[in-house]
Amino acid sequence: MRVNIILACTECKNRNYTTSKNKRKNPERIEMKKYCKHCKTHTLHRETR
Ligand SMILES: [Zn+2]
Repeated sequence: MRVNIILACTECKNRNYTTSKNKRKNPERIEMKKYCKHCKTHTLHRETR
């Protein structure tokens, strides 16, 4: 039940991370705070396709 997703920075739209999530646990798009190389700070990253 795990799917691979891409996390993109909500500030600069850069796709910085790939990860996986549990579809059953998180059916919605997930968001997490991650370091963005572009913004040089921690920003909110959102699941993208
Ligand atoms: Zn960014």
